[in-house]
Amino acid sequence: MLKRACDANHCGVPTDSSKGMCPHHWRMVPLDVQRRIYAAARKFTTSAERLSSVEFLEAWADAVEFVAMQEGRLTRNAYRNLANWTKRRALTTAAPSLKKTGQSGDGLSLRSSITRPQIPKAPL
Ligand SMILES: [Zn+2]
Repeated sequence: MLKRACDANHCGVPTDSSKGMCPHHWRMVPLDVQRRIYAAARKFTTSAERLSSVEFLEAWADAVEFVAMQEGRLTRNAYRNLANWTKRRALTTAAPSLKKTGQSGDGLSLRSSITRPQIPKAPL
């Protein structure tokens, strides 16, 4: 099983890649937020789909913020930043007048490298 660092701020406990948070922090996430995450995770199955879904990103951002508030450590939240960025991008691509034309390729290959959140590594 792949391991990744827990997404709660300042945690960094190795966690199953399918979970996202260590059991200690996941228990701090309110049930309705957990349900939103499960619902979005069922709808978007690949990590690429999830990371471009505002629904998933906002639910996960809420989870990170709930934990941070309970620990009194409200700091940066990569998921909130990415959710806001994805929303702005959706608005831009929805407006035909702003679309660029005449590009070769799909025009997205450059962007794909910045669609992944840069999760800050917590010092241990
Ligand atoms: Zn944790």
